[in-house]
Amino acid sequence: MKLNMLKYTEIKEYLKSKDSLLIPVGTCEQHGLHLPLCTDTIVAERMCDEISEKYGILVAPTINYGVNLPLDNKIMTGTTGITYELLKDTLENITKYWKMQGFKHFFAVSCHGDIFHIKALSDSSEDVEVIETYEVEQEDILEKQVCTRHACESETSVMLYLYPELVDMDKAKDFDIAIEDFMPYLEHKRDDMVDGYIGNVGYSTIATKEKGKVIYERMMKNLESIIEKYN
Ligand SMILES: [Zn+2]
Repeated sequence: MKLNMLKYTEIKEYLKSKDSLLIPVGTCEQHGLHLPLCTDTIVAERMCDEISEKYGILVAPTINYGVNLPLDNKIMTGTTGITYELLKDTLENITKYWKMQGFKHFFAVSCHGDIFHIKALSDSSEDVEVIETYEVEQEDILEKQVCTRHACESETSVMLYLYPELVDMDKAKDFDIAIEDFMPYLEHKRDDMVDGYIGNVGYSTIATKEKGKVIYERMMKNLESIIEKYN
């Protein structure tokens, strides 16, 4: 149920029994050689749509831009993003008006884990609950990683499960770098080219839809547990 597909009078009715709103937060960000730039966006939207279906909660229009690695913004064609301040202000602004009308709980659902991106969502308002979708136990499922990295064994598996037609497994390549070597990039302190970097970080080639199914079910279970606290 999309908020912007309703009339304002219907939303007034909704607010008589509910006060929650789901906000998918996407990115326009490269996802390696094998996944489209919309990857984070469509997975977040899919999760929100499923929650909406199950709990009858409205889904707000997606925020389509996020805060990216400076390296990706600079060299990865098509990738673009906004600043920490702009993302924080955007969410703060749009929820401010919804709050005046009676909405009380906002769920910002993000598949993108950039530290400044997540911080911007968290800092926007105390009424915004941030869900980092991939922050679920995966060590028992993944073979060569312990958690989600980027366009990797985990994220590619979820895409193979949800949107196999958008995954180009023939083009997938693995790329690994020690966390301490990549940290200055994650902290936005460096934006020079990393040797051998092709966009993904992790083991995309061993992704499967079976792993994706289990990971996605855990992501949904985690989101549902947060939603159920308020609904
Ligand atoms: Zn992603």
